[in-house]
Amino acid sequence: MDTYITMTAYGRDAETALTEAADKLAALEQLWSVTDPNSDIYAVNHGEGHPIRVSEETSELVSFALQMAEETNGALEPTIYPVLSAWGFTTEEHRVPSETEIAELLGNVGYERVRLEGDTVQLDNGMMLDLGAIGKGYAGDLVAQVVQENGSTSALLNFGGNIQAIGTKPDGSRWRLGLRDPFTGGTLGVLEISNMAVVTSGNYERYFIGEDGKQYGHIIDPATGYPAESGLVSVTIVAGEGRLCDALSTSLFVMGLDKAAEYWKQHPDFEMILITEDGEIDLTEGIADAFTLDSYHSNMRV
Ligand code: ADP
Ligand code: MG
Ligand code: MG
Repeated sequence: MDTYITMTAYGRDAETALTEAADKLAALEQLWSVTDPNSDIYAVNHGEGHPIRVSEETSELVSFALQMAEETNGALEPTIYPVLSAWGFTTEEHRVPSETEIAELLGNVGYERVRLEGDTVQLDNGMMLDLGAIGKGYAGDLVAQVVQENGSTSALLNFGGNIQAIGTKPDGSRWRLGLRDPFTGGTLGVLEISNMAVVTSGNYERYFIGEDGKQYGHIIDPATGYPAESGLVSVTIVAGEGRLCDALSTSLFVMGLDKAAEYWKQHPDFEMILITEDGEIDLTEGIADAFTLDSYHSNMRV
């Protein structure tokens, strides 16, 4: 998954739980890698218009991706790959594509055209799936399940910043997570949670500076084919399931503050912390008590 993963578990069976968890993770990586020719996603992306049989985990992942794409009105776009690739985010050979190139590539983007029937997935020729926006969160849920099935009731899984907190700390207190300050890279504040997933998306880690001096981030607005410039620098989602957190962190980043707030009002099954370009922190009621801003950030408006 192209990231660092840290898993900590407590209890008598913790070691077995983590061994099983690592196995599960490796298996999922093998199914969902975009670059491994043996993966489900690779097979679908190179299926040349044919229906491709995939594993149950993959069909469920695709099904969730399509559901969230619809729910977010296409802000989450699991077929954005051709556009992402033109910007060089898949190879790290970054470039600014021409407007015509982007317009042309957007013709191969559209979650409505993904056909999922039972255990087969079919794309039009030229389309490609990219589940990078939800894969880590989805894997987090499945791995957390394995940890719990193996008897650990206290564990913290960190998939490159996608957090799954199982239960509480062994002493019964809540897990304390540092929230990254997108402007300095330091810590902004502390979030105290138990039994929750926490996922942050931002454009301050994966981006490049174009020849025009502009900064281009890796989250694409599917409506334009250009990196999202919604006025947000960071979106943190807190919810029971990592898959929901991951899907929403990316898509609410695309939407921006006002639309994200609107979305939350209509889907109150998650909490969020949004940070705007001008240093404003907006958070939802349900998480206000769990978040403490570091004192030396008292200049920021919350
Ligand atoms: P991270 O890379 O830290 O997991 P995200 O969860 O926000 O961050 O996922 C961003 C990734 O999702 C991008 O690198 C790209 O692969 C893909 N992506 C970019 N824009 C979109 C979008 N609008 N919808 C779905 N996936 C996207
Ligand atoms: Mg992610
Ligand atoms: Mg995401």
